[in-house]
Amino acid sequence: MRPHRAYSPGLTGLLPLEEGHHLVAVLRAKVGDRFTVFDAQREALAEVVDLGPPVRYRILEERRPEREVGVEVVLYVALLKGDKLAEVVRAATELGVTRVRPLVTRHSVPKEMGEGKRRRLQAIAKEAAKQSGRLFVPEVLPPVPLEAVPQVVQGLVAHVGARALVREVLDLNQPLALAVGPEGGFAEEEVALLQGRGFTPVTLGPRILRAETAALALLALATAGEGR
Ligand code: SAM
Repeated sequence: MRPHRAYSPGLTGLLPLEEGHHLVAVLRAKVGDRFTVFDAQREALAEVVDLGPPVRYRILEERRPEREVGVEVVLYVALLKGDKLAEVVRAATELGVTRVRPLVTRHSVPKEMGEGKRRRLQAIAKEAAKQSGRLFVPEVLPPVPLEAVPQVVQGLVAHVGARALVREVLDLNQPLALAVGPEGGFAEEEVALLQGRGFTPVTLGPRILRAETAALALLALATAGEGR
């Protein structure tokens, strides 16, 4: 069987039916096959002992993988058109974000996001956490107006025309807040407001990136680029 990670809340020795079905019907697991089980706190190497349903397993070895960035990383991202936030949440989860807070900004086309969509984004975060080996599932929060962004210890706001490079200003020993604007960009007053809350404007290069690409680039520079 190819390497597999199955979600098993509480690591009880029994797989939830959906997870067990995937293991047996799709991956063709047999008794004695090894796979990884995990929940929000723990991860372990396990062995199939009964194909069920439900699939029963025994734990061979607990592991304590270190896959978190080490400091809190909050992404403030403007509400975007269509389903672009789904792409942002998926990539941000893979890149180690702690929380995603959508923002209503002056040039955001959507001005609200329903609870149904927030829940779907939360489910995407859960799936991406599972796929990327994270035990921690980032929280997707309801949107707030940009003015509600709190004072931060360290913040970087991606802004077209800014001069500072991420690597010149980033201190990955401090909690980090990142901000990315909507398709129409941040208004200058909005950037000024964020600066007043502790954000430094940074460039992502001379090309104009789509907002969802910018979120990914900013997070990648701050986490993956630092080996975190
Ligand atoms: N015309 C808009 C402007 O000048 O701000 C373009 C907005 S861009 C499509 C969407 C968001 O991505 C921006 O608000 C910014 O946060 C980020 N972004 C895109 N390209 C960038 C770059 N080269 N440097 C910094 N931020 C960038």
